[in-house]
Amino acid sequence: MTTPLKDILIEQITASGPITLADYMAQCLMHPVHGYYQKEHVFGADGDFITAPEISQMFGEMTGLWLADRWIKMGKPNPVHLVELGPGRGTLMADMLRAISPVEGFENAVNVHFIETSKQLRTLQREKVPNATWHDTLATVPDGPSLIIANEFFDALPLHQFEKHKGDWLERRVNVEGETFSLVLTAPSAKLALTPNELRKSPEGSVIEVCPAALSITGDIADRIASHGGAALIIDYGYRKSAVGDTFQAMKDHRFTDPLTEPGKADITAHVAFDQLKKAAEEKGTSTAGPAAQGMFLMALGLGARAQQLSDTLDPIGQQRILSELKRLTASDEMGTLFKVLAVQHPELPPAPGF
Ligand code: SAH
Repeated sequence: MTTPLKDILIEQITASGPITLADYMAQCLMHPVHGYYQKEHVFGADGDFITAPEISQMFGEMTGLWLADRWIKMGKPNPVHLVELGPGRGTLMADMLRAISPVEGFENAVNVHFIETSKQLRTLQREKVPNATWHDTLATVPDGPSLIIANEFFDALPLHQFEKHKGDWLERRVNVEGETFSLVLTAPSAKLALTPNELRKSPEGSVIEVCPAALSITGDIADRIASHGGAALIIDYGYRKSAVGDTFQAMKDHRFTDPLTEPGKADITAHVAFDQLKKAAEEKGTSTAGPAAQGMFLMALGLGARAQQLSDTLDPIGQQRILSELKRLTASDEMGTLFKVLAVQHPELPPAPGF
């Protein structure tokens, strides 16, 4: 099937040659008109995939209380920037703001900032959190103490892949023949230098990945926290320790699909390399905790008790729903283990709860 973005990519590749996977991914997801995130129904049961805040309000309640705890330990700065990267439909922030409202002084101290490039999603976010301020990147968020959260944001950032061929690392780029895209091996870009040293010792035929944007955004988050105080939670699916392998994948209608067949029509993601993010944050002078498995993190914060409390007010059907949400967020065959939580914070803050 052809898509408007397909024609644009074909023209680009025909004119200038194969493009990196990172360029391909960036255009598929973030093209200002035809990018995937401009679509109306991305998340939820009628969308292509579902995220933790869309599964249950309890996810935002737990992460909101984590941030409130950090704010108290920071000495209750007023104002404090509450920043979310890639807020999707705005559900997580709305749930967090509701959960923190009983924490005295917190809601009044908070300035909400959303880092979001999709116009379509900004509109949905405005309906849920009208008082937020929107930014394209972290750079325009004013200086000051910050509490930062990103759920399923890093997995959407553009990724480079390299494959070992006859002893050399070559870069996988997207080429086109007629209307069919395929991967070709080409001379590597300078991004190869960002891949972990030990992975570059991998044998012939291995594929290794690096996400330069994830490293630089983590560095920016850590810089801000080291200079002005604060804490961040990065939640996503991925590796505790970077490994060899191709994790570039696409989802449409809750099913895996080939990322090269319908550009702009499917969600494309890749595993987040938590060890690389941790290193990028620590290099800027912050301390880190985790990554912890999402299930363990949420249970340590009191998810079980919260589920019980909600259940007590509900009829049997409602109780079943809460139980099923609890299971989806925490079970190891659902999101509990694959999804991980990394905390980044100012080195003078006491250890973070949940780890
Ligand atoms: N956090 C939400 C949505 C995750 S989807 C949830 O958990 O439901 C990824 C989000 O990141 C979308 O809002 C998408 O538009 C945004 N996004 C992806 N790449 C981005 C980039 N480079 N800059 C800013 N926002 C981006």
